[in-house]
Amino acid sequence: MTAATIRRLQRDIAACRICADAPLKAPLPHEPRPVCVLSQTARIAICGQAPGLRVHQSGRPFTDPSGDRLRDWMGVSPEVFYDASRIAIVPMGFCFPGYDRHGGDLPPRRECRLAWHDRIFAAMPQLELKIVIGGAAHAYHLGGRSGGRAAGKAEGQPAGQAKRSVTQTVRDWRGPFEAPDGACRLLPLPHPSWRNNAWIRKNPWFEAELLPVLRGAVRDLI
Ligand code: SF4
Repeated sequence: MTAATIRRLQRDIAACRICADAPLKAPLPHEPRPVCVLSQTARIAICGQAPGLRVHQSGRPFTDPSGDRLRDWMGVSPEVFYDASRIAIVPMGFCFPGYDRHGGDLPPRRECRLAWHDRIFAAMPQLELKIVIGGAAHAYHLGGRSGGRAAGKAEGQPAGQAKRSVTQTVRDWRGPFEAPDGACRLLPLPHPSWRNNAWIRKNPWFEAELLPVLRGAVRDLI
C-alpha cells in the first residue's frame, strides 16, 4: 500500500462521526475523538480494546498507567512506542465509548469494526506481529470468542465459535504466535490494566513464559 493510502485512511478516521450521527444504537455520549496510529512501515501493531477517558482527553494512545505497564511488558521506551514508523496502534474502537451504569468502560463501538478494521489491516500487509489485547480484539483477530470481566464484553464476534475466556486464549498463545512462514504472528495478552493484577498473580506463567517471548519478538522487529 502507498503512503498516500495510509494517510487518506488516517485522515478519514480522524473525521469519523458515525457513532454520533449514524450510530447502530445509542449515540456516543460525547463528541467523537478517534485515537489510532496507522503506518506504512511498522512491523508491529498493538491491537487493543478502546481508549479510556484519559486517552480521550489526551488524544494520544496509552497515555495512562495501562500504557506504562504495556511498554514495560514490551520492553520499549515511550520514544519507541510512539514512533509510528515502528509501531502501529489500532484498537477495536477508536473513540472512548463512555461508561456503563456500574462505572466501567463500555465495550468498543461495533460501528468502528464494521467501518474500518478490514480496510486498515488490508492497508498494512507489512505487519509481522500483532499484539492482541483483550476479549474484543481476541475475537476479531483470532477469530474466536473471548469474554470475562478482565476484558469486558466482546462484541461482534463471529457466530458459531466456541466461547473462550481471555485466560484460555492467552494460555494458548503459542498456537497463534507460531504462525507459518510469511504469516503475521499473533500474540494474545490480557489488558494491562491494574484491574488485572489479581489475574497476573494467579497466572505466573504469563510473566515467566509469555513476556520474555513478547520482549524478544518486539526487539527483533523494531
Ligand atoms: S468509535 Fe469508530 S466508528 Fe465510532 S465515531 Fe469513533 S472512529 Fe467513528
